[in-house]
Amino acid sequence: MKILIINEGHDQRGYREKRCAVSPSTVKRMVQRGITVNIQQGAGQLSGYADTAFTEVGGHIVEDIAPVLQETDALLCVNRPDEAVYSLLKPAALVIGHIDPFFQQPLVEALAERKLTTLSVEMIPRSSRAQKMDALSSQASLAGYVMVMQAATHLPGILPMMMTPSGTIKPAKVYIIGAGVAGLQAIATAKRLGASVLAYDTRPVVAEQVESLGGKFLSIDLGETGQTKDGYAKELTDEQKQKQQDAQRDAIADADIVITTAQLFGRRPPQLISKDTLALMRPGSVVVDMAALSGGNVEGSEPGKVVTVNGVTVIGTGNWSQAVAKDATDMYANNLYNLLDEFFSDETKQFNLNLEDEILAGCVITHNGSVTNDMLVNAYQGA
Ligand code: NAD
Repeated sequence: MKILIINEGHDQRGYREKRCAVSPSTVKRMVQRGITVNIQQGAGQLSGYADTAFTEVGGHIVEDIAPVLQETDALLCVNRPDEAVYSLLKPAALVIGHIDPFFQQPLVEALAERKLTTLSVEMIPRSSRAQKMDALSSQASLAGYVMVMQAATHLPGILPMMMTPSGTIKPAKVYIIGAGVAGLQAIATAKRLGASVLAYDTRPVVAEQVESLGGKFLSIDLGETGQTKDGYAKELTDEQKQKQQDAQRDAIADADIVITTAQLFGRRPPQLISKDTLALMRPGSVVVDMAALSGGNVEGSEPGKVVTVNGVTVIGTGNWSQAVAKDATDMYANNLYNLLDEFFSDETKQFNLNLEDEILAGCVITHNGSVTNDMLVNAYQGA
């Protein structure tokens, strides 16, 4: 089996991708399994891995990827590949990466048309067995940490309580909306820095997790909210949305830092904070909108930017895990190695594409000329 890792470090879609789909550790393990690992020159540079770190463990550095693409069995990416790349792959080759499939219908259909087999890491089921392959979780955990660090850097104050002869400083108040993977990591990070943390999520089942991390859970009675069979939040009704916004207004006005992490799987994120509510916050307070690049939880946040709205700093940088690119690469590379390892046959030295397997049934989105995931097909048909 021959795999190729491309250098995604060029300015892509308005930002430079710093992560890489392999680390020296995963290349070493792949080579030991008999896999040929080709890596485009400089692919690890921005995550701290020089080309030599890969050659030392048996990887091959390639300058011109065009001829290599034609004999590649699996293309490992962080993001979705460009047409210039995927159009050179042979039919039935695997394409693995963050494809963003709900919002990239033309790309997914083009990949299907070329008879490529696409594995979208966003579609890996959130099961115990697939946890080690779960790139959404690995990157979201890092995002939770990074968002707190960025907020702390912009806040004109400190997070912990400090009692000194020069006066006593109270702990900063942090309000976190959404207590999924990123939100829980943000709670843990803010608590470790000494802040007083309040959190809210529409899934009441997470209240216990918030409290076990030392946070307080804001109780808002929205009636039936529920969650999908995969544990994702369901979209609220308009009445529930209004109720939530009214109920958390005081918490937001009182906070030094607000971090919004609310997402709806396969849909645009919900808007949670209006400009009017933002205006209630003290000047110098900081809001981090995790979803700024994909529509935004906060009215007034700008994708990729840090802006000031009525004296409040609103951070919409996005691509959070890239701020810690080495750790993000190590975790993502492990996720992809674990996926390959799960389905790699030591006898045939090939990836065993067992579409009956629940993990592959979930994350394989194109195969043999078709879009194979029902959820996507329905979404594309507007159902
Ligand atoms: P996500 O990124 O889809 O959403 C983040 C959080 O936002 C969720 O907790 C969601 O409930 C919350 N949210 C949505 N709308 C909201 C609103 N209006 N106000 C406040 N909060 C709102 O979620 P995620 O972090 O990817 O986790 C999704 C689910 O998957 C969770 O149930 C999580 O426990 C589960 N999970 C399971 C595994 C596993 O078992 N292997 C791994 C990771 C996550």
